Amino acid sequence: MENSSQIALVGLDRSETTALVERAGEAAYRAGQLLEAVYRQRVEAIEEISTLPQALRVKLASDGVSVGMPRIEKRFLSQDGTVRYLIGFADGQTVETVWMPEGDGGEAGDGTEAGAAVEGRRWDRATICVSSQVGCAVDCQFCLTALLGVKRNLTAGEIVGQVCALLKDRNVVPPEDRVNLVFMGMGEPFLNYENFMKAVRLLVEEVGVAESRMTVSTAGIVPRIRDFGKEAIRPKLAISLNASNDELRTRLMPLNRKWNLEMLMAAAREFPLRNRERITFEYVLLNEVNDAPEHAKEVVELLRGLRAKVNLIALNPGPGIAFATPAQDRVAEFQQVLVKAGIPAFVRRPRGRDIYAACGQLKRTVEIATSPAR
Ligand code: SAH
Repeated sequence: MENSSQIALVGLDRSETTALVERAGEAAYRAGQLLEAVYRQRVEAIEEISTLPQALRVKLASDGVSVGMPRIEKRFLSQDGTVRYLIGFADGQTVETVWMPEGDGGEAGDGTEAGAAVEGRRWDRATICVSSQVGCAVDCQFCLTALLGVKRNLTAGEIVGQVCALLKDRNVVPPEDRVNLVFMGMGEPFLNYENFMKAVRLLVEEVGVAESRMTVSTAGIVPRIRDFGKEAIRPKLAISLNASNDELRTRLMPLNRKWNLEMLMAAAREFPLRNRERITFEYVLLNEVNDAPEHAKEVVELLRGLRAKVNLIALNPGPGIAFATPAQDRVAEFQQVLVKAGIPAFVRRPRGRDIYAACGQLKRTVEIATSPAR
């Protein structure tokens, strides 16, 4: 460890934290206290770690060690209770992280009203939507994040840190408080695979969120889908399908040129599912582009024999996006084709559309006039 360099505790796993403590000439059990303070108590500064002797706090700080939790720079509150957070990192880059007090509707697909109050509780099944990169390189034609391009990968600490910052801000303590994580924010998690997977392990082992409460969505990075299937600890898998044939998919998602539907569906078919697990396929409905009943029939063919469910998302519009949102009856018709073919299909309720917090709308939109919360 160089004395001059900055070391963030958030993002370090148990063995790295132990090594840091031992280099400082301290007993290994101090590592447990650091991990507890960072990931469970979610302290913001080393001075707050009351289990450590004062001399050690001073020494760590003078060694350039800090907690390194990302900062909440802004909050935007939606009418439906969704909160979009602007989260800032040490180098000044920012991402967005979304708090959904009642989940995203795609999990249960139960049609509960957005923002419906649950008797005696603030929320029932909150979901945090986590970002994995600053911007995104995948260039999906209907997504606002794509317009940013990719600035950089997030570190494991910056991914875990988003979750810790929101848990602290909402005063939520897993596993006692039920919280789901979806890695569906800015960026393509499978293009930042190692950092993403390290973050997952820290969230499971140190923060206390069960892997069964996490879902990662990929635009279809086929080799990483295969790697992901081999992981001992892993979230559930969602794949952004968004089109029913190669011609359409290549138009909407240029990465389909590299990994086409045949390659994608082969990886999905060979993906080792656990007991009762299904792969979720997301499908953004774009008016008169990919939303006809014929497209739904093609989806049925693609998914034949797969343990799958489909989450339909009517396009969330945005400036610079050249597609329109289909009418509700068109969405319902598409859904019916899938359901009649025996494929569970749910329409995801848009959450926080009024504050640009919904799927495909995350883009560091600080300039957009919304009411800051709290
Ligand atoms: N890059 C990953 C993780 C992001 S998930 C992925 O693509 O899967 C974001 C989800 O929102 C994806 O399923 C994507 O297809 C969907 N989406 C993107 N733009 C959207 C928009 N404008 N309206 C609705 N959904 C959109």
